[in-house]
Amino acid sequence: MVSKEIHIKGIVQGVGFRPFVFSMAKKYNITGWVRNSSAGVDILANGTPQDIGGFITEVKTNPPPLAKIDEIFESDINSDDYNDFTILQSQKIPGEFIPISPDVSICSECQKELFDPGNHRYRYPFINCTNCGPRLTIIKEIPYDRPNTTMAEFSMCDRCQTEYDNPLDRRFHAQPIACPDCGPQVWFESSTSAPKNGESGIQQARHFLKDGKIIAIKGLGGFHLACDALNREAVSNLRQRKKRSDKPFATMVFGIETVEKYCQINDAEKILIESPERPIVILLRKKGTHIPEQIAPGMKTLGVMLAYTPLHLLLLEPENGYPDLFVMTSGNIYDETITYTNESAKEVLYSIADGFLFHNRDINIRIDDSVITEYNGQKYFYRRSRGYAPNAIILPNRSPEILAVGGELKNTFCLTKKKYAFISHHIGDLKNMETYQAFTEGIANYQHMFNAKPQFIACDLHPEYLSTKYAYHYSKANNIPLLQVQHHHAHLAACLADNTWDSDENVIGICLDGTGYGLDKQIWGCEILIGGYRMFQRKFHLEYMPLPGGDSAILHPNRIAAAYLWKLGLPWDDHISSIKSLTSEEKSVMKRQLESHINTPNTSSMGRLFDAVASLIGLRHTINYEAQAAIELEQITEPSITDAYKFEITENIINLNSVISNILSDINHSIHGAVISTKFHNTIANLILFLCKQIEKENNLHHVALSGGVWQNQYLLRKTYQILTEEGFSVLIHHHIPPNDGGISLGQAVIANKHYK
Ligand code: ZN
Ligand code: ZN
Ligand code: FE
Repeated sequence: MVSKEIHIKGIVQGVGFRPFVFSMAKKYNITGWVRNSSAGVDILANGTPQDIGGFITEVKTNPPPLAKIDEIFESDINSDDYNDFTILQSQKIPGEFIPISPDVSICSECQKELFDPGNHRYRYPFINCTNCGPRLTIIKEIPYDRPNTTMAEFSMCDRCQTEYDNPLDRRFHAQPIACPDCGPQVWFESSTSAPKNGESGIQQARHFLKDGKIIAIKGLGGFHLACDALNREAVSNLRQRKKRSDKPFATMVFGIETVEKYCQINDAEKILIESPERPIVILLRKKGTHIPEQIAPGMKTLGVMLAYTPLHLLLLEPENGYPDLFVMTSGNIYDETITYTNESAKEVLYSIADGFLFHNRDINIRIDDSVITEYNGQKYFYRRSRGYAPNAIILPNRSPEILAVGGELKNTFCLTKKKYAFISHHIGDLKNMETYQAFTEGIANYQHMFNAKPQFIACDLHPEYLSTKYAYHYSKANNIPLLQVQHHHAHLAACLADNTWDSDENVIGICLDGTGYGLDKQIWGCEILIGGYRMFQRKFHLEYMPLPGGDSAILHPNRIAAAYLWKLGLPWDDHISSIKSLTSEEKSVMKRQLESHINTPNTSSMGRLFDAVASLIGLRHTINYEAQAAIELEQITEPSITDAYKFEITENIINLNSVISNILSDINHSIHGAVISTKFHNTIANLILFLCKQIEKENNLHHVALSGGVWQNQYLLRKTYQILTEEGFSVLIHHHIPPNDGGISLGQAVIANKHYK
């Protein structure tokens, strides 16, 4: 007989790990015990060398579906004899922590039970088990035990308790375990009918949806607003009431068959959409469907997710004459933070929803849906949130405890500890007061959950970002050093860390985005860098263009186009669509600003160049959501077109004169906008290849990292990736975090790690 002490780190709690160990111990005749600790799972195993070997191999290679083993330590010990194998009480180790599981969509076994009339939990909207259900959204305290969740107020009935206590049950220690007798309940409220509870409430909500009404549904991480996606009037009403003119709506369906009815979907996309994380996947729409234009104006794509909670399944269950495609958009007005309490939903969504499907399981942390697309068979994030947060990114090097507060738009923050970087769920635009509150509360929450006390804090260089101001204050209040990181350096480092880059070697960083505060206090955004975690050098950038009116110009691509023409000495002819769209008042104000440089910062932004081109070809002159003009410009590209414009480079500046002049000439020759757009995209890809070759020659660098919000552009990404790899470059793109500002907190954290000490 031998004895082993085994310690396992990773996501091993709340995922059925101990019952799994228990059943493996029985299989291999092992005696001893297993227990959760605040550092992971500990096992003491006695058995023959052969049985112990088999036991450990199976624990390593065959863990439950949601478990994620990061490290296993084994050591030989002298142990007492045990007659049996048991599950012991949890043990708390001061200062230790374990990663917490994200929320998980309903598993197939629970789904089967949900629709099985013989099952005790038949049609119960909160059915869950150790393999599925809410996690992060209900956790108030660690360790993850029921009294530390928002399920604490529901006391288990005898039946649930028996399942909870039985190591051989699928619900052994499933903290959110519940049934119709003891768990949370739903009800439906509207101004036109009496409140209805449970099943009849769900049926009432279904009637509302069928009748073209808008309902608010309390889901996993907050409220959604839903309506029949094929009902034009309902969709228009929702747009009007929510004050959301054009930004695409996400949709939800019951099952994969409906996705296939409306969208093209390949095998890799199918795996993503059916994964337990259940993100919104951006898919190409099929031609000839009856999806109204208002769902996603100007787009060829559709964001779709599968129903991911039992409540969604009951609400969307297929039936003859019942809709099959539903708008499922965040419960908020315009772009505010997602509503997550019953009280605030009544207040905020009152003017939008015709009815409310409520429930009484509280949401402790609000979380938006994740948005993803597939690239080369892998995930490519637009927004990393529900289902993924707070999963850690494994760092290339151990890190002290660092708090990195991210940017201003699409904010996330990041907390590092040992080899882990915990990147928060999507927080949003910090200028919104409620969102800012979610940011500060989120930081407090994560510090608490992961038992972290930051020794170093990192933020952006922009002095006016609210996250920067927060960092100044935090640094003073806690007496810890602060590092300000240039925005595009953070993008570059984020892409390196995303690829577990562990070298001090420099790479070429192609950082393209809308706005980032530069070392010279100008607005940067098309930055060809050489650098790594430690430092960077600005090798090339787009020539500076004026931005009359500063940030407010961003909403008016026509003003950007006009300013670029002015700077390049090109006339403001009224036959140019951008110029024609401006009022004479606008033009004279702009002239004054441009001549006097008052409130007219300089920018080398790539995002603004896309805006200008979209306006020049008459595609879009004003926008009502972020990057709208650039997104629509991408949507009209034609992959069969391979032409491009010429560009000029003087020293380290990319000049715009020839590109813009040639675009104007194409416009004069009535060349179709789709052709101009594609040629423009191809030009940027060619430009990047040219600059990379130049740097390769001078600096002998072969790795290229693509980061920044512009890399959400799939046409540009595919084109650039293709021509760079064809020329032998090794191209690093994002896989685990978005290329946009949702990723910069990780970049700040890894840069800070290199500067610590
Ligand atoms: Zn389940
Ligand atoms: Zn029960
Ligand atoms: Fe950025």
